[in-house]
Amino acid sequence: MPERVRDISEFDLIDRLRDALPAAARADARIAEGIGDDAAVWRPDIGEAILITTDSLIDTIHFRTDWTTWDDLGWKSLAVNISDIAAMGGQPGLATVSLVLTGDELVADLEELYRGMGRIAQRERVVVAGGDIVRAPRDFGIHVTVLGESRRGRYLTRSGAQPGDVICVTGTLGAAAAGLALLQLESDDPRRTATTAPLLVAAHTRPEPRVRAGRHALEHHASAAMDLSDGLFGDLPKILTASGVDATIDLAQLPVAASVRALFPDRWLDFATRGGEDYELLLTVPPDRIDGLTQALSDFESTLTVIGQIDDVSASPRLHARTLDGRLEPVRRGAFDHFRNDPS
Ligand SMILES: [Mg+2]
Repeated sequence: MPERVRDISEFDLIDRLRDALPAAARADARIAEGIGDDAAVWRPDIGEAILITTDSLIDTIHFRTDWTTWDDLGWKSLAVNISDIAAMGGQPGLATVSLVLTGDELVADLEELYRGMGRIAQRERVVVAGGDIVRAPRDFGIHVTVLGESRRGRYLTRSGAQPGDVICVTGTLGAAAAGLALLQLESDDPRRTATTAPLLVAAHTRPEPRVRAGRHALEHHASAAMDLSDGLFGDLPKILTASGVDATIDLAQLPVAASVRALFPDRWLDFATRGGEDYELLLTVPPDRIDGLTQALSDFESTLTVIGQIDDVSASPRLHARTLDGRLEPVRRGAFDHFRNDPS
């Protein structure tokens, strides 16, 4: 019989999950006390501000265990939080993880979840410093909080965009939404076996937080930043509102992978603008800073694409898009609901 959560004590489960983390993700010179005491103790560097973010992933709402491995789920649950620290130009430092368990879960699956978490924690120098385990009758869930530090007392916000700044994004847009769409296709759909399909699915199940890009954006004086979790047209209005400015996006400039365009000729633009979960950085940058930042990112093979510009100061910010055939149109705000088409 495979071992289930309800078969072992909470103390045993905590030990097993901690042991699934690599040593570097359990302890660090910055963490005076980690898992095992009443509270974790972190000593941030003197003069640094502490950045705090939290996010929850709930079974069947944010993920489906038949579409993701447990390892990838662990990676993603930490990655989406690290992405928020990256979006502020910060250095991630510490995570706490709370699991809501029905008792039905396999212990081995949760160990794999922690191994996936440990993989990205180790790479991004994050210590998993504690958490909680809660029993609930239904709906497995993962709640993660990540703390980070400012750099030399500085960090990026959404509120600094100025008229004349260019709008740019790291990487490409729409791959994660294309990956999710592939998972939603009928199993005999030939697109699921396309050679590019695994990469697109991975963009959805195993996102890459852009910590280095965020650091460079801070150092090169980006004026505003955020990470793209709700799609360009869902997220850019948040910068416009926080900064009190209008903007125009040029749809012909959006960086969309050829594979996304090829597999979804009718949907790629929707994926790129409203798809969500790309976890790329959306930046506004003074025009005289863009070359320096582009060069800095290309040094570690990260791309930066200019997709539009900040227009005027505005009390009720508006977003316009120049369409592929050159018309200027107002943009309806919002992202699409990822699981809207989910039959389950
Ligand atoms: Mg965010």
